[in-house]
Amino acid sequence: MTDMLTAPHTPAAAQDPAARERAQREALKLEKRLCRLVGQAIGDYAMIEDGDKVMVCISGGKDSYSLLDILLKLRARAPVRFEIIAVNLDQKQPGFPADVLPAYLRSIGVPFHIEEQDTYSIVKRIIPEGQTTCSLCSRLRRGILYRVADELGATRIALGHHRDDILQTMFLNMFFAGKLKSMPPKLVSDDGRHVVIRPLAYVAEKDLVRWAQQRAFPIIPCNLCGSQENLQRRQIGDMLREWDKRHPGRLDNMLNALRHVVPSHLLDASLHDFAHLKATGAPDTEGDIAFDPPALAQTPAVVRIEAL
Ligand code: SF4
Repeated sequence: MTDMLTAPHTPAAAQDPAARERAQREALKLEKRLCRLVGQAIGDYAMIEDGDKVMVCISGGKDSYSLLDILLKLRARAPVRFEIIAVNLDQKQPGFPADVLPAYLRSIGVPFHIEEQDTYSIVKRIIPEGQTTCSLCSRLRRGILYRVADELGATRIALGHHRDDILQTMFLNMFFAGKLKSMPPKLVSDDGRHVVIRPLAYVAEKDLVRWAQQRAFPIIPCNLCGSQENLQRRQIGDMLREWDKRHPGRLDNMLNALRHVVPSHLLDASLHDFAHLKATGAPDTEGDIAFDPPALAQTPAVVRIEAL
C-alpha cells in the first residue's frame, strides 16, 4: 500500500484528485520496481544470509536513504531474518547538521550509531590547498567504518552505490586506467575482514531521485567539505545521462553486458586460453562468425533490467 510519505505532494496532485490518484499509482509502481530490483540483486549475489547483521552506511544523501528504506521494506517480508543498523560517520565538515540523521532514524525506529571523527581537519591539514582531497578522505572514512563494523559485530557493510555509479566507474577505468573493471556488487574489503555489498546495483539513479522526492528524505547537502566533484566522473555521468535520454534502455543493456561477459570474445589472454586454441571440427553456436558483422539484435540474454 502506498503510504502518506510515498504519495507525492506535487501542487497538481494536491489540487486534482485524478492527478493525485495517478501520482499515487506511479509512486506504487516505483516502489515495486525498487523492491524487485534490490531483491533481485541481493538474490543474484547472495548478499544477505540468515542471521546477518547489515550495517547500512548513511551519508544523508538520496542513495543511502533509499538503500535503508528499501532494505527495511524487504526485510519486513524476507524469508531470511537479518538485522539492520544504520551508521553515519560525522566527519565534522563545516555546517554538517548533526541533528538531522538521528532525528530521522529515531522517527523510523531504526537502531543507529553516529560515529564522530574529525577527518575534515586531518584532510585539510595534510592536503595542500587546491589539490583533490577525496582519496585521503575516503581512505580515512573506509578505515573508520571497518572498525565500527567490527565493534558493532556487523557481518555485512551495505553501501548505496547504484547502477549509474557502476557504469561510470567502468568507463572511468576504461578511459583513464586501461582496465575493464567496475564496482562489484559484493566484495571482501581491502583489509580482508569484511563483506561489502551494494544492494542498489541494478537501480537507476533517476529512480532514486524520484524515490527521495516521494519519501521526502531530509537530504543533507553533499558539498559541505568544499571539494569539487571529480571532473572526469562528472563528464562521464553527463555522457551517460545524455545517452539515456536519447536511447532509452541503453544503460540497462550496458549493465546487462557486465552480467554476461564472454571472455573468449575479448582480448585478455589470462581469462581465455588463446594459446592452446585448436579447431575441433565440431560446430559451435557460440563460435566466431569471423567474416560476418556481429549480430546486434537483442538476444534473450540482453533483457532490459526494468522489464524483469
Ligand atoms: S567529496 Fe568531500 S566528503 Fe566526499 S570524499 Fe571527497 S573530500 Fe570526502
